[in-house]
Amino acid sequence: MKTFTKISEMRAAVLEARKKGLSIGLVPTMGYLHEGHLSLVRESVKKTDCTVVSIFVNPSQFRPNEDIAEYPRDIDHDVRILGKEGVTFVFIPEVEEMYPPGYKTYVEVTELQDKLCGRSRPGHFKGVCTVVLKLFHVINADVAFFGQKDTQQAVILKKMIQDLDMTVRIEVLPIVREKNGLALSSRNTYLSPEQRKAALCLVRGLRKAGQMIEDGIRESARIIQQVKDVIRSEPLAEIDYVEIVDLESLDSIKRVDKECLIALAVFIGKVRLIDNVIFGYRE
Ligand code: AMP
Repeated sequence: MKTFTKISEMRAAVLEARKKGLSIGLVPTMGYLHEGHLSLVRESVKKTDCTVVSIFVNPSQFRPNEDIAEYPRDIDHDVRILGKEGVTFVFIPEVEEMYPPGYKTYVEVTELQDKLCGRSRPGHFKGVCTVVLKLFHVINADVAFFGQKDTQQAVILKKMIQDLDMTVRIEVLPIVREKNGLALSSRNTYLSPEQRKAALCLVRGLRKAGQMIEDGIRESARIIQQVKDVIRSEPLAEIDYVEIVDLESLDSIKRVDKECLIALAVFIGKVRLIDNVIFGYRE
């Protein structure tokens, strides 16, 4: 496994692999890797000849009030565990490498970027699209692997790929959870033991929604209300949003009678956690 920090070197290494006829898989991450990230890495290693994992805490996707300096980092640990997974290249650029002085170009997927998480994090998806597009250009992967944990991100990136006539394919993989149901997230490290317990209200809310749908209830408003009630019964939780939306347009839907996404964001103290479930999903 080789590690690169420079775009030119990363590009040259991938080009060399391409010349040998190898297929390339990309797993973009912000590091502090956990089993959720590793599920993407393992899928890429299984399905492609040459897996590239990028680790970059992307400043353009953080809002001024979100403290990027506090984002958890442990590059040594990340590189060590990637070394055991059959990864070919790790790309760890500095901020100045991705955004040199005078950088001016950003990519926006209009409308989709303003829904769900975009409402409370304006500019977030512009930053995500910009950095992922840059990574796509540098790595020139055949397939890129993303988690359902960030379904809105995957929906937006698929639209960007379609609109910009790109050929990279996106694969979205299921959410990896702790035994108790908590979705793995680098942000979970911010939680105290008490907050960690409180954070289970997210998955409890989603399970309630699943139960209602199984019981034949279809009205989104009724389901959302019940999910909110479950979350509100947890004193440490403050709801950012609970929505039921169409999986392509991300528009709210009134009735759960087709493939749809139930997505939520909840503050546990200062930590904003997201989770979701897709209903009626067929591969
Ligand atoms: P991040 O490092 O948080 O930017 O995440 C990098 C990738 O890992 C994204 O595609 C996420 O959706 C994915 N990911 C994060 N958490 C999980 C999880 N619990 N299960 C599966 N994928 C995840």
